[in-house]
Amino acid sequence: MEYNIGDIVRTKKQHPCGSKLWEIIRVGVDFKLKCLGCGHIIMLERQKALKMITKKIEEERED
Ligand SMILES: [Zn+2]
Repeated sequence: MEYNIGDIVRTKKQHPCGSKLWEIIRVGVDFKLKCLGCGHIIMLERQKALKMITKKIEEERED
C-alpha cells in the first residue's frame, strides 16, 4: 500500500481521545500522523507506521 500526504488512515490502536482515524501529513523515513479526533500529531518510523496502519480510508461516502 502506498501512502500520500493527505490520506486518511485507520490504525489498530485508538488514540486516547477515542479516534482511530489519522491524516498523513508527512511521508518518508518517518511518517507524521495527525489525529482526526483531537489534532494531536505523532511522528513514527516508517516501519512502525506501516505496521500500525490497518486501512486506508478511501473516499467513500457513508450515507
Ligand atoms: Zn486524538
